[in-house]
Amino acid sequence: MVGGGQLARMTHEAGIPLGIRFKLLSDTPQDSAALVVPEVVVGDHRDLGTLRDFARGCDVLTFDHEHVPTEHLRALEADGIPVRPGPAALVHAQDKGVMRARLDGIGVPCPRHRIVRDPADVAAFAAELTADAFAAELTAADSAAEPVGTGSALPVPVVLKTVRGGYDGKGVWVVRDTAEAAEPFRAGVPVLAEEKVDFARELAANVVRSPHDQAVAYPVVESIQVGGVCDTVIAPAPGLPPDTAVRAQELALSIARELDVVGHLAVELFETRDGRVLVNELAMRPHNSGHWTQDGAVTSQFANHLRAVLDLPLGDPRPRAKWTVMANVLGGDYPDMYAAYLHCMARDPQLKIHMYGKDVKPGRKVGHVNTYGDDLADVRARAAHAAGYLRGTITE
Ligand code: ADP
Repeated sequence: MVGGGQLARMTHEAGIPLGIRFKLLSDTPQDSAALVVPEVVVGDHRDLGTLRDFARGCDVLTFDHEHVPTEHLRALEADGIPVRPGPAALVHAQDKGVMRARLDGIGVPCPRHRIVRDPADVAAFAAELTADAFAAELTAADSAAEPVGTGSALPVPVVLKTVRGGYDGKGVWVVRDTAEAAEPFRAGVPVLAEEKVDFARELAANVVRSPHDQAVAYPVVESIQVGGVCDTVIAPAPGLPPDTAVRAQELALSIARELDVVGHLAVELFETRDGRVLVNELAMRPHNSGHWTQDGAVTSQFANHLRAVLDLPLGDPRPRAKWTVMANVLGGDYPDMYAAYLHCMARDPQLKIHMYGKDVKPGRKVGHVNTYGDDLADVRARAAHAAGYLRGTITE
């Protein structure tokens, strides 16, 4: 696996019962997975020579992030290394412009969008958005927002995204005037403009597909973001009409098939107030919105990702409990982890703690908890309490 983050750490863990020899290419020896995987190569995933040396002797190559340059993946494939997901699929998780164009091509509903070159282009896009009734609703929803920059106000707010390299809300701007719209262009990389969707909530439809074209779909989940970072995931999404859930699962399965994705595919969705689902983003690897499956599904996303990339039959994705809630533990500075474990484990025997062994930095994801039960309010409260306690923001 290329990338030494927590996703690799948890994928490695899922491979242990199968006796899989798991080799890791990690940026540093201190990365989350490098601390636990026995066979670690420390090197730069952007360097083709390093990748070639690493991949030699591997049966299959897979990823914990999407940052390996597409052309290097093509070179590895040409060397005869099975790369899963392959570069032709992975480019849609690497480049938001390519992703939007392809999803348009296969009729998948997305926020309206356009590649923009400069703030004037952004203004022209915003003007176009106001030209129909749906955008008029957007204007009404955001009319309280005052322009904060010094440029001329846009008729509706616009979301700007760098097409490559964004994560956890970095590389995403909501701009309300042309001065603010200048910021994303400073890096000199292409920028995607999108309508700002007035969504009711964010959902994720997670599926896994194997080279044999077997595929499984997990229940659609609700993902709650705080400050652009995933905070809580509820499985299944409460109150989601069954036909919407099935539509979202079918959308994700059809994207996996059309794009020839192998492995876990997370489709991040917006549920609009009128019951539509629009695709926000794709991730072709285990994903934060699937961490609940470790303790809440018959087969976890990590186990199924491994089965898929090894072309083994996939495992049952069904939930084990009525409700499972995952809450991320963001970096705090808890002085005594043992005492924190005593408290949390005694308070909630259902609680499962997953810490990543990462250096604690404010706001950084350092672990997560899963808990489950029949009463959603109670399960949510227990997950939030444990995550807050492990972070150190709750003390009793
Ligand atoms: P990344 O995951 O690369 O950080 P995303 O495209 O997922 O970037 O955007 C981060 C967050 O910004 C989303 O979870 C959502 O809350 C918000 N967002 C992104 N695109 C839009 C949009 N078109 N309309 C409204 N909100 C958006």
